[in-house]
Amino acid sequence: MRTIGYGLPRLGEKRQYKTLLERFWSQKITENDLQKGMQELERERLLTYQAYVNLYPSGELSWYDPMLDLCVALGLIPSRFHPYKGWTSYFQMARGASALEMTKWFNTNYHYLVPEWEEGVQLAPNPQFFVEQYELARQLGHANALPSLIGPYTFLALSKEEGLSLSSDQIENYAERLLPAYKQLLEALVQVGAQGILVHEPAFVLDEPPVPLIGYLYHALAAFPLYVLTYYEAVDFYPRLVELPVKGVGLDFVSNTTNLQQLTQYGFPDDKVLIAGVIDGRNVWRADLKKKAAEVESLAKRVKEIWLSPSAPLSFLPLSKAPETHIAPPIWDRLSFAKEKLGELRVLSQYVAGEASAQTEVEYSAALWQGEPLGVHPPTRERVANLTESDFVREVPYTDRFRMQQESLQLPPLPTTTIGSFPQTEDIRALRKAYKEGKVSSTDYSARIREKIAEVIRYQEDLGLDVLVHGEFERSDMVEYFAERLEGFAITQQGWVLSYGSRVYRAPIIYGDVWRPAPMTVEEIAYAQSLTKKPVKGMLTGPVTILNWSYAPPGKSKEEVAYEIALAVLDEVRDLEAAGIKVIQIDEPAFREGAPLKKKDWPTYFRWAVRAFRLASRALPTTQIHSHMCYSEFESILQHIWEMDFDVVSIEASRSKGTLVEEFRRFPQWDRQIGLGVYDIHSPAVPSREAIAQVIEAARRVLPDELLWVNPDCGLKTRRWEEVTPALTHMVEAAQAARNQVRLA
Ligand code: GLN
Ligand code: ZN
Repeated sequence: MRTIGYGLPRLGEKRQYKTLLERFWSQKITENDLQKGMQELERERLLTYQAYVNLYPSGELSWYDPMLDLCVALGLIPSRFHPYKGWTSYFQMARGASALEMTKWFNTNYHYLVPEWEEGVQLAPNPQFFVEQYELARQLGHANALPSLIGPYTFLALSKEEGLSLSSDQIENYAERLLPAYKQLLEALVQVGAQGILVHEPAFVLDEPPVPLIGYLYHALAAFPLYVLTYYEAVDFYPRLVELPVKGVGLDFVSNTTNLQQLTQYGFPDDKVLIAGVIDGRNVWRADLKKKAAEVESLAKRVKEIWLSPSAPLSFLPLSKAPETHIAPPIWDRLSFAKEKLGELRVLSQYVAGEASAQTEVEYSAALWQGEPLGVHPPTRERVANLTESDFVREVPYTDRFRMQQESLQLPPLPTTTIGSFPQTEDIRALRKAYKEGKVSSTDYSARIREKIAEVIRYQEDLGLDVLVHGEFERSDMVEYFAERLEGFAITQQGWVLSYGSRVYRAPIIYGDVWRPAPMTVEEIAYAQSLTKKPVKGMLTGPVTILNWSYAPPGKSKEEVAYEIALAVLDEVRDLEAAGIKVIQIDEPAFREGAPLKKKDWPTYFRWAVRAFRLASRALPTTQIHSHMCYSEFESILQHIWEMDFDVVSIEASRSKGTLVEEFRRFPQWDRQIGLGVYDIHSPAVPSREAIAQVIEAARRVLPDELLWVNPDCGLKTRRWEEVTPALTHMVEAAQAARNQVRLA
């Protein structure tokens, strides 16, 4: 039984990937240096693969994004980038002023670049990158390397034209253009000696796949030695999938048991390889290899040839747990990052082959999971077990709360506020770093943070904002900040994962029961409030977002964990109230993206997600609860958003006025206050007063004045003060002008 790995993180042992790209972009190194650095990194990656598995890909080391690589290889270049001039154009498409749109890759936290089709586009294929990558692997002695590409269907399914996903007609139409180009690419790879080609088709697992079209595409490519990988979920067209004219099919056996059931029911053809995704490629936990071996043995009875693989690309895991020596041994022992996952594949295959050397490790991995679960906290378990319906319902209904809060807050119509963070300048990042490294005492650190808070409070008063924030200067990241202060979380030091381009983040690891040993935000918020008569918003990250942006613990339902986090947030809400805070914002930017890939699983997800938010936000009726979400495509979920029962929500709207109007027209029961983001904080451009006034006007046409707030569409931490000051000045002016009209009306 062979093993195959894929998706080994691009970042590298020392984060060379990030350094190389960023130094190239700031012109500190030449294209030639970048090329050499990338080759060196590829050498490191291929050696890692070789150390653990029999088969592995070439061509994974994209210089920005694999979707973009395929756009270039197929020659799908939007006309604004013509003529295409090598890497200069590549990086313009990736990150220039008119770059391709970027969006989330399935249910991961990675963002890919969206292929853009244009009426009448002519594809001009250029297989150079993939050919060179394959040749490099061969030169380095990796004769078994398999070129790796995104599949034709996934490419089309994730494409857009004029900002909209392709309709099924457009997909069929563009498939005709894509096929000759895709064939040329495959042909070029076969010509330089590729024996097999890995084709990633995660879009096969989405709802209602167009099976005839998929069949058509793959019959057209039947002459090539393709191995099709599906992952992130089970496929809904198993019998047709395994009949495609390909050499191998990859299935995810970890997400759930559906693929296994289908395989048992329909069998698996003898003339194909099953690439069995048995080691979890999405989570950081070590497998019980004894259990896995039993699964593999039962598969082996039904399938002639199996390659053992991860259940999904390892790309979104940290590279290795080796540097995380500060994590307590019982937790560390149970961790498995990308490299360790490859090691598990090796041991598993050796064990199944009856090699005695693998015995000990397999036994050990099984024993690991037999002991006491990690981080058990009986009082927390008891609290969750004792929850009753009333814990999920605020005592006073919204209409009455609305009146009570108006009375106590005395805000003008169309109140202005911001989303929480203010610019995180170099000095503030340096200060936090010095504090973490123990170079600044905690007294000095608090004093410096207080100074910043005092400045930003004065600043907001001068601007004339109505509800103020403390600026979030003490936070590097909205999830990590809380994870560091809650029990049940482990924080890695080097566990970086790519979010897009060269951007990285570290997701916290939830290993045990989550609870709050002490207040987390009260000191800063109460201090901010002590400096002003205007209300200061307490700023918290919501339970669904904390959970969705962390690795979930083993052996527990997400619902259970969400309630534990919600109770910790609730404790914080209560302490903020006790400290005199009247407005509290609980951010949930990951509320929607946490939804499962298949619609059939949505009701279950939204049920517990809504309940977790309600549990966390069960504040006094006089406390005004805000939430914030960084998107506005609520499509069919407006009902769930409404069920969260907040008092005010702020959302992105500056880029999508039209669709939003439609959403609200279709949901007339909407009665909550809403802050439509009146300008796009992702752009450095300063919005004019008129542009902001237009968004306010558009909102006033759809929703009653007494429900409207005025705010930017997200936090300001990535912006510079020089941009923020004029933008907020215009915003306050536009709000005041609109307010006068409201008063006249
Ligand atoms: N309160 C956070 C901030 O302003 C919200 C960030 C977010 O929505 N992603 O930075
Ligand atoms: Zn946001």
